[in-house]
Order: sequence, then structure tokens, then C-alpha cells
Amino acid sequence: MSGGESSVAPGVPAGDAPVLAGRTALVTGAGRGIGRAIGIALARAGASVTLVARTHADLQDVAAEIRANGGAASPIVLDVTDESAVRAAIRELPTHDILVNAAGTNRPEPIREVDIRTLDALMAVNVRATFIVTQAVVSRLLDESRTGVVINISSQMGHVGAANRSVYCMTKHAVEGLTKALGVELAPHGIRVVSIAPTFIDTPLTRPFFADPQFRADVLASIPLGRLGQPEEVAAAAVFLASPQAALITGSSLLLDGGWTAR
Ligand code: NAD
Repeated sequence: MSGGESSVAPGVPAGDAPVLAGRTALVTGAGRGIGRAIGIALARAGASVTLVARTHADLQDVAAEIRANGGAASPIVLDVTDESAVRAAIRELPTHDILVNAAGTNRPEPIREVDIRTLDALMAVNVRATFIVTQAVVSRLLDESRTGVVINISSQMGHVGAANRSVYCMTKHAVEGLTKALGVELAPHGIRVVSIAPTFIDTPLTRPFFADPQFRADVLASIPLGRLGQPEEVAAAAVFLASPQAALITGSSLLLDGGWTAR
């Protein structure tokens, strides 16, 4: 490196400073599973984290773990499908420069058995709430001419199809579409929008699915790496994507699928 040039990329904290020092992050679905791991990892990377989920006890537990490790966490009980509550909460909170939309759910059903309540529930959480939370957080950034990062937890099912997952696949393809559209729209404002598309991860959401040994065997046979993912692996990707090291990444999806979609 020639004299006068810095070996640190623009915006990357120098020396031993945590990579997200000074940042504020909001994580939905932070009470369990992937969102919980992401909240903990962002805090460990130096961000001050607002944790959103519906269950008070889960949130207290995550916040206590973060604080015990010297991090900063504010838990907020909120149903992200409640539009007016979401808008009111985000109006009252400090501006967040990192948003992770991890609240989401699945109810696998064959097409003939898909109940209208399943359709509405998955659309409400996976799509509508993701849009509304993003719109509210991004509007604050735009109002204040601040840069930021939105990370949507999509799925490999946002890239491929699978039996009994018509509604889930539809919702996650919608999340991928939102990620691309906002990646383009918000790039001139310095706001990056990315998604993470994991394969099956060992969480409270998926554990009941794996009670069926045939389903478990079929899933493992479809993952060339031959194992389920862990929430901490998704969290590591989120820290990277939120960091200045990912400054050139927007409008795209990072597959964490053990090779599932490469076949
Ligand atoms: P989980 O059920 O273990 O945890 C989900 C969290 O989201 C919980 O804390 C729950 O309270 C919260 N949540 C759900 N609905 C909410 C609402 N309306 N308002 C506020 N909070 C709400 O799920 P998970 O496995 O950790 O999945 C998290 C995300 O990752 C989802 O979007 C899911 O689709 C996606 N994903 C999961 C897997 C997997 O295999 N687990 C794979 C790919 C993608």
C-alpha cells in the first residue's frame, strides 16, 4: 500500500473497535430462533439493539443475555401485524440505521387444504408486516438524510419451490421482490436493502416439522452439506451485511442453503 493510503475501507471502524459500534438496530422476531441470534450478534458487534416480539418473557431473556455480555438492548412487546401500533412505536423510538425483519412464520399444507386463515396469516406477517416496518424505519432515515441497511430474512423458499409450501414460497418470493425494488429505489440515498435466504435452520419454528423422520431424512438429503443450519450462522451473515464491509451489496440475496439451490 502506498504512503498516505489507509488500509481500512471507508466507514470501517479502525483497530479493535466493534464493527457496528455506534449503530442502532431494530430486530423483529427477536424473541426466539433466528431473530434472537441476530439481536445477540448485532449487540456483540457493538450495535445498540431494539428487540421486537410478541412475548414479554422471551424478550426479557434475550435482553438479559445481551446486557450480561456488556451490550445494549431495549425490548419492546409488539405485534408487527398491527399497523398502527408499529407506526406509533417506530415514531416514538430513536431512528434505527439497521433494520432486520426476522418475524415470520410457516404452516405447511398441501394446496387443497390451505385454509384462508393460513393464507391471510402468512401474508400478514411475512409480507405485509415486513413492508410496513420497513416503510416506517426507512421513512425516518430519509426524513433525517441518514444512511442505513435493511436486512430481510427471506428463505431458500424465496428462490425455489417445495411441496406443501405454496403460501410460504409465495410470501418469501415477495420478500425477494421487495428487497430488489427497494435496493434500487434507496441506493441513491445510501440505504442498502438485502436479504438472507437460509435453508432449514434448527429453531422453535422448524423443530415440530422434524418430528417426522421421513421429512427430516428428505430435508437432509436435499442439503449437499448434509446438516441443518444454526441460528448463529444466519446471525453471522447479518452482522456482515450490516457492516461497512458489505458496502457494495444491495438489492441481492445471500443464500445460506448448504447447497440446496445449487442442484
Ligand atoms: P421462530 O418461530 O423460531 O421465531 C419467530 C419469532 O418471530 C418469534 O420470536 C415470534 O414471536 C416472532 N413473531 C412471529 N410473528 C410475529 C408478529 N406478528 N409480531 C412480532 N413478532 C412475531 O422462527 P424462526 O425459525 O426463527 O424464523 C425467523 C424467520 O426466518 C422467519 O421469517 C422465517 O420464515 C425465516 N426462516 C426460517 C427458517 C428456518 O428453517 N427456521 C429458514 C428460512 C427462513
